[in-house]
Amino acid sequence: MNLKIAGIGPGSVGGITAEAEKALGEAELIVGYDLYVSLIKDMFPEKEYYTSGMRHEIERVEHAVKCAAAGKNTVLICSGDAGVYGMASLAFEIAEAYGLDSSEIEIIPGVTAALSCAAVLGSPLSCDFAVISLSDLLVPAERIKNRLICAAESGMPVVIYNPGSKKRNDYLNHACRIMLRFRPPETVCGIVKNAGRAGQRAEIMTLGRLADFRADMMTTVIIGCSDTRVIDGRMVTPRGYSSKYDLGAEGRNTEKDVYGRGRVLVFGGTSEGRIIASRISEKGYETWLSVATDYGKETAEVHLNGVKIISGKMPETEIEYLMRSRRFSCVIDATHPYAVHISKSIKTAAENTDTKLVTVKREVERGPSDESIMFFDTITDIIDYLNSTDGRVFFATGSNAAEEYSRLRNLSDRAAVRILPSADAVVRMKDAGFSSRNIICMQGPFSYEMNLACFRFSGAEYLVTKSSGETGGFDEKISAAEKLGMKVLVAAPPLQEDGISVDDVINMASEGRL
Ligand code: SAH
Repeated sequence: MNLKIAGIGPGSVGGITAEAEKALGEAELIVGYDLYVSLIKDMFPEKEYYTSGMRHEIERVEHAVKCAAAGKNTVLICSGDAGVYGMASLAFEIAEAYGLDSSEIEIIPGVTAALSCAAVLGSPLSCDFAVISLSDLLVPAERIKNRLICAAESGMPVVIYNPGSKKRNDYLNHACRIMLRFRPPETVCGIVKNAGRAGQRAEIMTLGRLADFRADMMTTVIIGCSDTRVIDGRMVTPRGYSSKYDLGAEGRNTEKDVYGRGRVLVFGGTSEGRIIASRISEKGYETWLSVATDYGKETAEVHLNGVKIISGKMPETEIEYLMRSRRFSCVIDATHPYAVHISKSIKTAAENTDTKLVTVKREVERGPSDESIMFFDTITDIIDYLNSTDGRVFFATGSNAAEEYSRLRNLSDRAAVRILPSADAVVRMKDAGFSSRNIICMQGPFSYEMNLACFRFSGAEYLVTKSSGETGGFDEKISAAEKLGMKVLVAAPPLQEDGISVDDVINMASEGRL
């Protein structure tokens, strides 16, 4: 059977897909409803057409099926998509009734009204949505009503096809009354008439107003959900990118100042970060704290009341987006001094968004001490230190330091190493004296959880690491080590830090200068 069934989109020439246009160009016979045929006739004036009016669908489709079965290259057209309240399913049923083989019927998709109308309005269907037709010509009214109730209750935006006609001019109003049982009257709604055709008209209104609106059969209605809002006259249901960081904060894109103070964003799961966040929050700033790991979040939550905590590593673009959409009066970088990559991102994002940046200078303890973290100039210095202890060691310093490692006392019994999965590196570690069971070959980046698993497996008391440099992953290592009560030994050149002290930051907060 030489039958193609094509949706021609909303009605504009540009809205027809290339595939549908090709099928029409090749067709001997084009069958369709008068109005839709008139929309494409100018494009293919030479073709043979068969048209009929509303309510003649069966006759029209029968004609198309019969001509196609007789070998004529036939295209049956529908507006929008042929499978959405269209003729495609009817063609299969008719072919079946005539005992014809429908396996060769080709369906060519088109842009359905829900999508073309959504595009006219803005982006109201960004996530889940429901589609319901109010036409009760083929569907019992009771079923339509039940589906409206289910859709209303689901909280999804609802697209309404066939919202009314001359005879059924109050169907939309009934539908709105059902929606109003579940959604407030201020819910954002949109109507689009003649999308992509002459006389296109769109309007955004509340659900309360829509309940009195008279829609005709050339109109599609979109009822928004609780997230749907108006941005510059367009109807938008956010995907959730900005509320990802919302955490209940009221007010969007405003410099909120409920306490007469601003909103401050602190970066750093360090103890300095936590102290600063808690103190400035006490001083009346709306305080946000960004930490890299879940562990950082857990720790911060124990200590901080009323501070909004964002956990997870944010790429620079996301940091900038957060600053742009929340407007912080000040951003404080209290990240670890060796986490240089994140500091660079914070600085760039602050510059690009014109946000004031305060960098905290951490008092870095160097040399042996009782702290959980100790700094050394070189790995050799760390090995010297370790040779005065007996604890198990985990080296996260790569395979280049083979020579240094080999100087560790009882290396094969007490040390594990994590290296990249290269055969050459494994050989070097074995030559250095590691036993096979203590060589972990793995490609980073390593999450907090993965570090936890590795460190636990090694049973190590000491973690040896380098300052992170560009590659990052420093916080993930430090948090996992902290969680397991390990001592971290960092090989890092002495650091010349810019920035001000924690006390200075707190003073600035007291004086309202953040
Ligand atoms: N197959 C079509 C739908 C046919 S049902 C499709 O996929 O789009 C007819 C209903 O579709 C109309 O009552 C109206 O609600 C909607 N509709 C179709 N074309 C439209 C257009 N250009 N503008 C607005 N609504 C349209």
